Amino acid sequence: MSVEFGPSTAAVHAGEPRQRAYDAITTSVVHASTYTFANSAELIELQAGRVVRDEYGRYGNPTIRAAEAKLAALEAPQGGAAALLCPSGMNAITSTILALVPTGGHIILTDDCYRRTRQFVQTILVRLGIEHTVIPVCDTQALAAAIRPGQTGLILSEAPTNPYLRVTNLADVVAVARQHQILTMIDATFATPYNMRPLEYGIDLVIHSCTKYLGGHNDLLAGVVIGRPALIQPLRQEQGIVGAISDPQSAFLLLRGLKTFGLRMERHNQNGLAVAQFLERHPRVTRVHYPGLPSHPDHAVASAQMRGFGGVVSFEIEGDLEATARMLDLVKIPYIAPSLGGVESLIEQPAIISYYEMTTEQRNAIGIYDNLVRFACGVEDAQDLIADLAQALEGYMPA
Ligand SMILES: *Cc1c(COP(=O)(O)O)cnc(C)c1O
Repeated sequence: MSVEFGPSTAAVHAGEPRQRAYDAITTSVVHASTYTFANSAELIELQAGRVVRDEYGRYGNPTIRAAEAKLAALEAPQGGAAALLCPSGMNAITSTILALVPTGGHIILTDDCYRRTRQFVQTILVRLGIEHTVIPVCDTQALAAAIRPGQTGLILSEAPTNPYLRVTNLADVVAVARQHQILTMIDATFATPYNMRPLEYGIDLVIHSCTKYLGGHNDLLAGVVIGRPALIQPLRQEQGIVGAISDPQSAFLLLRGLKTFGLRMERHNQNGLAVAQFLERHPRVTRVHYPGLPSHPDHAVASAQMRGFGGVVSFEIEGDLEATARMLDLVKIPYIAPSLGGVESLIEQPAIISYYEMTTEQRNAIGIYDNLVRFACGVEDAQDLIADLAQALEGYMPA
């Protein structure tokens, strides 16, 4: 598409050819492991680079390509970006880092980041001779101090982070990175391109777990890395070698889910803000973490950088681990489950779901408190979610 459309229009129309196979209005799910050539001359046309077409399933698939084009258009409405679909968000993160940082290299990441990303860096990368420094999120001075000129190859951050929804100032990160020609990568899963577009601030690579808001229906696993074509092309080639590819069925579900992306995000944003405002007024809630609230440390940065603040609200309530679990057990609409970004609201207690094997002291040391709750608003009616939370907060006994 040559004109720049808004995110809702792009989510419906971008990336897919106007006239599709069989004149169907939907993009077909092409289940094919290989592609045929009418004669040797056709094959030679491909080898010589004179035609663009499919050859073998590990190197490309029309359904996956349509999903990639739509995601690239959402992230960079003016064009100029390419996207690589991956089998999961984690795979998008790990394969990108592995492709970009050599043995002996060094990466910088922030403390309040997705736990599996931290584990990957602290275990697998260490084994491969890639060093790292963990800095406090949103601390530009610590970032500058952590850089090892000539060795640091990548700065990785999330925005907003999990579970405290911290929002890094992207322009500051880019300014520091460019002084040393270091690549920057933002996991923007919690923001989505509806709420924030890091490439516009000069960030090199954006990662999303499409499993969350982009797919939006809790029915697929996928990840994506988006950036300028010169950065994505080598990643695509490595994916063809390693063989960790997405599949056409997930790509179709993703395309299908993205049709309502704009509508869903609008509702997630509304519900997140309404729930956060309700919780902040509740006497049994001791603290609310939501960048849309003036009480959040990054409210100013988030307001300048984001269109909306998303559906995830973290909060702390009166009581210990057991009391908090009792509160969760009383809510009726959200499911107790990990993940976020789907149409169903989900609720979880990080101390139990992600950090269960640690002691309370160990969790406190990394800022995961026993009374912390993460509420991922779905697209239900805000007044129903609030009434449900109100009865649960009323009914559990803090002590
Ligand atoms: C879920 C998530 C991931 C991992 O994505 P998967 O699709 O589950 O592999 C990475 N980063 C963030 C911020 C996430 O929320």
